[in-house]
Amino acid sequence: MKKSLGAILLTAASSQAFTSSTCETRRVPLHSTVIDEAESMTIPSAGEALLAGESYARQETITPKSYLDDGFIYGLDDSGLERPKGKNANVVVEGDSLETTPFQVGLVSSTFAVQAFFAANAIHTLFEQTNGDVGQTAAFSVATVVASWVAADFGSGIFHWSVDNYGNGRTPIMGNIIAAFQGHHSAPWTIAYRGFCNNVYKLCIPFGIPTVAAINYLSGDNSMAALFFTFFCWIEIMSQELHKWSHQTKAEVPSIVNVLQDLGITIGRVPHAKHHTAPFEGNYCIVSGLCNETLDRSGFFRWMEHTVYKINGVESNAWKLDPELKERTLSGKYAMSE
Ligand SMILES: [Zn+2]
Ligand SMILES: [Zn+2]
Repeated sequence: MKKSLGAILLTAASSQAFTSSTCETRRVPLHSTVIDEAESMTIPSAGEALLAGESYARQETITPKSYLDDGFIYGLDDSGLERPKGKNANVVVEGDSLETTPFQVGLVSSTFAVQAFFAANAIHTLFEQTNGDVGQTAAFSVATVVASWVAADFGSGIFHWSVDNYGNGRTPIMGNIIAAFQGHHSAPWTIAYRGFCNNVYKLCIPFGIPTVAAINYLSGDNSMAALFFTFFCWIEIMSQELHKWSHQTKAEVPSIVNVLQDLGITIGRVPHAKHHTAPFEGNYCIVSGLCNETLDRSGFFRWMEHTVYKINGVESNAWKLDPELKERTLSGKYAMSE
């Protein structure tokens, strides 16, 4: 059974920040958030947010932790920490910050420049392959980009599901991203305060230059495949910005963003708010949200979780948050209950 967001705010209430170098964890009280009023939300000033961020009281606990199991699930009950109510921004992952750094700007800029180069190269190759037919090149390129946009929504759902449900802050390579996604459930308003590069740079690890270079190498002469996957990687990085827009008010985003959301081209506020209800078991797609209904109604993610469980015995975080969901899945009832 789904827990209401209210219930989770009252009981879940807490989080432990991930630490990377010791066997200790630190518990950090979090400010609760409600986003099912996304259309009318108000956001505190940056000053208030910083004050909130500085007000954490920390309590040391000693628990054996590893990247396989750090013993902590965002949203689970009885953590014993208070989480004052309010739509505040908090940094819940240790070492994270809302400040945009030159490293983040450099990583995002260089990644986008290389992706633009590969995309231009793919279109140029396509132009040559169509014997210089501009119309055909344009039509193929637009069709490829549209198909990639739809596929990227599906891809964002798979990626979001995987990092929400498996691993933790100690997981090699992906630890920072996993911590950021799982921590987002405890502090969903924080994303609205992030600058562009601060918000998207972590996704330059899985979808950045090495990945795009490998894809273009493997694509060989298939210029449409090269364009499709290069654009796909760019959208996956951008998905975090599209996600941010869905957490901001209409007044906070450029007016074009509201148009894109209304058209369903980028993920809307209300559709994404459906994800922010424990046990966070659906509505994972954050590019356009186009694939959410099909994936959720078909029980695709429950089937994936069951498959993972049969292979290695690892339970998804959604199962840990909702034992009934686990029971239903284990009995083969994959479709979402609502
Ligand atoms: Zn999530
Ligand atoms: Zn969100």
